[in-house]
Amino acid sequence: MTLRTLLQVIGSMLCAAVCMPAHADPALPFVLKQVGPGVYAAIDGPEHKAGSNAGFVIGDDGVLVVDAFFTPDAAKALVGEIRRLTAKPIRYVVNTHYHLDHTGGDQVLRDAGAIIVAHRNVRGWVRTENAHLFGDRVTPDLKARIAALPLPDLVTDKDLIVWLGSRKIVVRTVLGHTGGDLTISIPDAKVLFTGDMLWRRVPPNLIDGSVAEWTATDADFEQTPDAAHMTFIPGHGDVANLRDVEDFRSYLIDVRRLVAEARKAGLEGDSLAQAVTPKLRTLHPDWTISDRAAAAEVRYMADELAGTKRRPVPVP
Ligand SMILES: [Zn+2]
Repeated sequence: MTLRTLLQVIGSMLCAAVCMPAHADPALPFVLKQVGPGVYAAIDGPEHKAGSNAGFVIGDDGVLVVDAFFTPDAAKALVGEIRRLTAKPIRYVVNTHYHLDHTGGDQVLRDAGAIIVAHRNVRGWVRTENAHLFGDRVTPDLKARIAALPLPDLVTDKDLIVWLGSRKIVVRTVLGHTGGDLTISIPDAKVLFTGDMLWRRVPPNLIDGSVAEWTATDADFEQTPDAAHMTFIPGHGDVANLRDVEDFRSYLIDVRRLVAEARKAGLEGDSLAQAVTPKLRTLHPDWTISDRAAAAEVRYMADELAGTKRRPVPVP
């Protein structure tokens, strides 16, 4: 080993101990960031190869994974990262909601030993509503993948506590994004995985949402004791803090207000989005707001205000 490679090895060892991100491997479809002792966020990269964020918690006697990405390959890469850090068994994967960008790799996690935990409505929706999610962009390949998704093994419509040995993980049912949403918190690390109840500086997908419920849930996040010292892992966008939660809630409130004003002025259809989108960009200059995302969210917001919003219905 040359002196230069020795220095590189020492440098990378030091960096592994103290640097954020914990593992920025360009071959990975996400950036792994340690956000607490044994708590990792896997943040989707700029090319969106993972499709969403995920993460995991290493406890005394096992690992709990939060969400499974869009593609099985991304989930395989996540299992690889877990295996790099610990030999403890992967015991659970908790889906924050049914959307394919959070459940697409569930089978990989199950094959790695995990029990799939989800809101009770996910079992009824994961193979049916996901086709609707993609609308006219659904391909035969995507349809086949959706039809083959594993159903959750353990479902709940109540809050749960999962113990990984002495490590407590709190799974809560929350309202707003789909009608079947869970958050996962690790109180000893002050970390909350919010799923898609929080998006950081990118417009949220309102397809199944109720903005009224959603803003109330985000207000609850802000009221959590010690919220100012918490780390929030959003469903999309980088690792967040309390200010990001406040920023996101104000974005939702702006969408609702601007769409309501434009409707009052008699606008509808495409002209609604044309009126609202530039105003959103002015109010939130540090956000990345694509025309496509803005047009969709304006349409869904208008539906909610008109009382014509289609939302998934729980299957008995
Ligand atoms: Zn979602």
